Amino acid sequence: MLNIGCHLSSAKGFLAMGKDALKINANTFQFFTRNPRGSKAKKIDPQDAEALRELTAEHRFAALLAHAPYTLNACSADAHTREFALLTMADDLARMEYLPGNLYNFHPGSHTGQGAETGIEQIAAALNAILKPEQNTAVLLETMAGKGSEVGRTFEELRAILDRVSLKEKMGVCLDTCHVYDAGYDIVNRLDEVLAEFDRVIGLSRLRAVHLNDSMNPIGSHKDRHQKIGRGSIGLEAMARIINHPALRDLPFYLETPNDLAGYAEEIALLRGAYRE
Ligand code: FE
Ligand code: FE
Ligand code: ZN
Repeated sequence: MLNIGCHLSSAKGFLAMGKDALKINANTFQFFTRNPRGSKAKKIDPQDAEALRELTAEHRFAALLAHAPYTLNACSADAHTREFALLTMADDLARMEYLPGNLYNFHPGSHTGQGAETGIEQIAAALNAILKPEQNTAVLLETMAGKGSEVGRTFEELRAILDRVSLKEKMGVCLDTCHVYDAGYDIVNRLDEVLAEFDRVIGLSRLRAVHLNDSMNPIGSHKDRHQKIGRGSIGLEAMARIINHPALRDLPFYLETPNDLAGYAEEIALLRGAYRE
């Protein structure tokens, strides 16, 4: 079965997201751990978390994906910004223990002129400060489009971060189809080769999740503008190859396309129809 869901608003709490996912025939979803611009998080309601755990167990959901605020920057040239990212991520991971066994994704960051090597060292240092042997959440680095000074725009940069993390078994990667395409990886015409390269550089065993997005821009554009499935430069045929690829087909897929709930329901139906059982 295709494990697929979409990004949902966490405004109404955990159980409400689980119910929204069921409404649109999803069997997983993604949510922001707090306001995406990175402000204070609402207090966790343990009963709400428990209710979601029951719903996801009953309906055999794939792993949920919590997304860190995208404004966090663990490799900013500004030390206060780095510290804020570290504290926020540590707090997020503590909160994720209310939903054990799921995934936490973050953008590695932007080096803001320090250079990628410095950025890589700072991101790894942040991870080494916050990862705990007892945590029940895998932390994923997201592949980035390479706009501005983003770190993680090549598989090599992600590998360099992973190499410097002590608790490697807590780490993984989330592949964003729009981002890797915008970064220059030709997943439309050379999917096998791109995945072989991912395997050689990072290792496919580290790949834990896929953000399924079409792109508004051509390959290598370094833009990061998501488009609805089938309406962008990646296209529906390539999307069908991606969800059916032997190296990917059992992973959870999360839509981050510009849609409301009804639009997501349509995309999920479209992709379920394109999946070979
Ligand atoms: Fe993201
Ligand atoms: Fe993404
Ligand atoms: Zn994006």
